[in-house]
Amino acid sequence: MSPALRCSNLTRRFAGVTAVNGASLEVESGTLLALLGPSGCGKTTLLRLIAGLDRPHAGTIEVDGRVVESAAMHVPPERREVGLVFQEYALFPHLSVEDNVAFGLSRGPNQAGRVEEMLGQVGLEGLGTRMPHELSGGQQQRVALARALAPGPRLIMLDEPFSNLDPALREGVRREVRRVLRGANATAIIVTHDQEEAMSLADEVAVMMDGRILQQVAPTELYRRPASRQVAEFVGDINVINGRAIGRAVVCDLGTISLLDDLYGPADVLIRPEALQLTEDQGGQAIQVGRSFYGHDQKINLRFDSGLRLSSRVGPTFVFRPGTRVRVQLSGDVLAFPSSGE
Ligand code: ATP
Repeated sequence: MSPALRCSNLTRRFAGVTAVNGASLEVESGTLLALLGPSGCGKTTLLRLIAGLDRPHAGTIEVDGRVVESAAMHVPPERREVGLVFQEYALFPHLSVEDNVAFGLSRGPNQAGRVEEMLGQVGLEGLGTRMPHELSGGQQQRVALARALAPGPRLIMLDEPFSNLDPALREGVRREVRRVLRGANATAIIVTHDQEEAMSLADEVAVMMDGRILQQVAPTELYRRPASRQVAEFVGDINVINGRAIGRAVVCDLGTISLLDDLYGPADVLIRPEALQLTEDQGGQAIQVGRSFYGHDQKINLRFDSGLRLSSRVGPTFVFRPGTRVRVQLSGDVLAFPSSGE
């Protein structure tokens, strides 16, 4: 079966900038995919190409196996069956909630029923006659979602859907959006530059940088086996140590550590802070020199006798004593990549 979406080698240039640079992406039907990348990496441009609002200089796009974009073909946005929810929701301010939701539906005997069904799915039953300005930000977003889902699109795309929301509301709204998309059995792309949001929300994460998709995998795989140092640094904190790899092991200031994959020569050894366990010990190899306390956990900064500085993420009950020695034990994944020379 064809994937719901297949983008192959898409490129879109603007004067002096290549916003999308040979990006390829596949989304299976029913998958919630987070498109994650730093500001300016080309996420919005890619969505606009998929929606048909803009045309690429090269590459092809298929929706459910049908070519909608190629050098010879451009299916207009309204015939792609792709829904798009903009960051600022873009509701029609002069139309009621139900008229907003009805907008993309053909008129007919089933229209009112479908509107009611959609309002029920997003938890807004009874609010159909309200105007958009009479709703909270989270409610407006649900109307935008209901409007995009109402025609039953093959793919729905949400551009930074949570960025306008108060951080305190964000997690609840995120869960709600996930529930609605799952309930509708939707195939969705959710754009975000927040790695925690991407990992907690999606079945798969596609990491985009400099106009390309660098890796597309499940969240746990992305965190544990990032494809490069650049990806590892973008998805969470990381310690980087210089080392020398000799096959399945690497020698560095922490000793000889085994690796998951073969590597030879100068290496960047990548260790997540939570993989470093600490025990207070006068014979330990490092001194505690600083800490950031977050409540659910804390990060302890360490200085080794060699001058190496690393940070360790430990539970909130660990007692931080500046200047005191600790034994540092490694428990968890260690990755190594050829040295970047930094
Ligand atoms: P953000 O997360 O900040 O919204 P993004 O990842 O969505 O960023 P894009 O908006 O796709 O990134 O922009 C990618 C690059 O293309 C940027 O350098 C941007 O300035 C440039 N760009 C986007 N649209 C245009 C345009 N219409 N004309 C010229 N340059 C553009």
